[in-house]
Amino acid sequence: MSAELQLTELLIDGKQRPAADGRSFTVLDPSDGTAIAQVALAGKADVDQAVAAARSAFTSPAWARMRAADRGRILYRIAEAIRYQGERLARLESQDVGKPLRQAKADVEAAARYFEFYAGAADKLGGTTIPLGPGLIDYTVREPIGVSGQIIPFNYPLQNTARGSAPALAAGCTVVLKPSPEAPLTPLEIGRIALECGLPPGVLNVVPGDGETGAALAGHPDIDQVTFTGSVPTGIKVAQAAAANVVPSVTELGGKSPVVVFADADFDLALTAIAASAFGNAGQTCSAGTRLLLQRGAEEFLDKLVAHAASLRVGPGLTDPDVGPLVAARQRDRVLSYLDLARQEGATVRVGGAPSDPALADGYYVEPTVLTGLTNDARCAREEIFGPVVTVIEFDDADEALDIANDSPYGLASYVWTRDIDRAMRLAEGIRAGQVYVNATGVGTGVELPFGGYKHSGWGREKGLAGLDSYLQTKNVCIGFGSRS
Ligand code: NAD
Repeated sequence: MSAELQLTELLIDGKQRPAADGRSFTVLDPSDGTAIAQVALAGKADVDQAVAAARSAFTSPAWARMRAADRGRILYRIAEAIRYQGERLARLESQDVGKPLRQAKADVEAAARYFEFYAGAADKLGGTTIPLGPGLIDYTVREPIGVSGQIIPFNYPLQNTARGSAPALAAGCTVVLKPSPEAPLTPLEIGRIALECGLPPGVLNVVPGDGETGAALAGHPDIDQVTFTGSVPTGIKVAQAAAANVVPSVTELGGKSPVVVFADADFDLALTAIAASAFGNAGQTCSAGTRLLLQRGAEEFLDKLVAHAASLRVGPGLTDPDVGPLVAARQRDRVLSYLDLARQEGATVRVGGAPSDPALADGYYVEPTVLTGLTNDARCAREEIFGPVVTVIEFDDADEALDIANDSPYGLASYVWTRDIDRAMRLAEGIRAGQVYVNATGVGTGVELPFGGYKHSGWGREKGLAGLDSYLQTKNVCIGFGSRS
């Protein structure tokens, strides 16, 4: 363990503690590779303790007997505390993940909004009555599903912590959250803030760790539900582990989201939104619009996009550039290997394509990149690169655009830019993806909107009121009385 860095501990049953076996890992600042924290690494024994704490808290009177409105009140307090500590949280997120400070500030606000949104829902989770005729009354009750195991990726730790835990807590569940080893700092902060805001001990436990920690949680026999956000291969393992215990899962996986730009689009409006979606968070956004389908005749838009990408300032997140570093060396190397592949596949690199300025060589940077000359069957058009890279594919008309948009293993988000309402509606109707934006974009926020995948982008929905369904069971109660003749 580094001599200078104090150990950041796990949060289990309302207490901070080291890992049972004493292990820890170092968190690096992706802007220059320096160590910024030493964090306890939760092992199987810690996961067992966290699940036991969550199980006990689930039935404890302090939580199980709390009125729904009071649960909501705690969530409102958490939202306000996140805003109050927003500057500090944003700086921590920026340093941990590498994202530009203003993006980290937007993530702070989104995290606060999740708690606020679900706070308001906590006391509105009523059931229904079902008419069965004389002498019978039938009603449904929506009950919390139990202990939720939540596993999140590195790219939006603040948002993902809030996105999964806020609806679970609003529903009356308890949570064991496993952050990514590449970005564990703000999830631990949210856990600490929640305690200060009156959340009973054990209701929200945070156990940073690696894949083994995640596997111990996903396959734990005493959890009732799993929410996983991450890559497709890991999502499959997590879903299988949960299924082996007959535990339902939500899987929020990757994407290769199409952005369809017709020649009649408002190019200036589209440009800002498309660049923010593709290059924001250094392209490490599951719903990023990375497959640009451009109508032949709209080459002027491509020129604008290339010029815009070339003008973006790349630098350390805390200096609030346009584009920060990728989260880790392995992520940068993965993106660079895709750029090599793109060249082998015959792509023209219109801008970018390299690790960035030599002055930034200690960090994990890749220049914003635009690739042309590929067709939709190239690997760089089909696979998730997860870096600031846009692949441009040309089309002639709406039918062809729709075919290309749907010719993907993924179906997470999609974006359409046109002034023609018939065309827009045809694509909105035909695209197989969990979200369609027309002349708009919602990357990274959209707290109120249901979000999730078709095809390999996963199943289940987070965000919006739909996000509560994963945390609720429906119980039907049927009562007969008096004479039924
Ligand atoms: P990843 O799949 O490598 O890791 C995700 C999490 O799973 C991490 O916490 C990791 O430690 C854990 N994990 C690893 N092996 C595990 C196992 N065997 N069992 C249980 N947990 C395990 O993903 P990543 O590299 O951290 O994140 C990038 C991916 O996440 C991209 O594919 C991206 O599209 C996806 N993502 C999706 C969404 C969405 O909402 N759809 C949001 C953000 C990121």
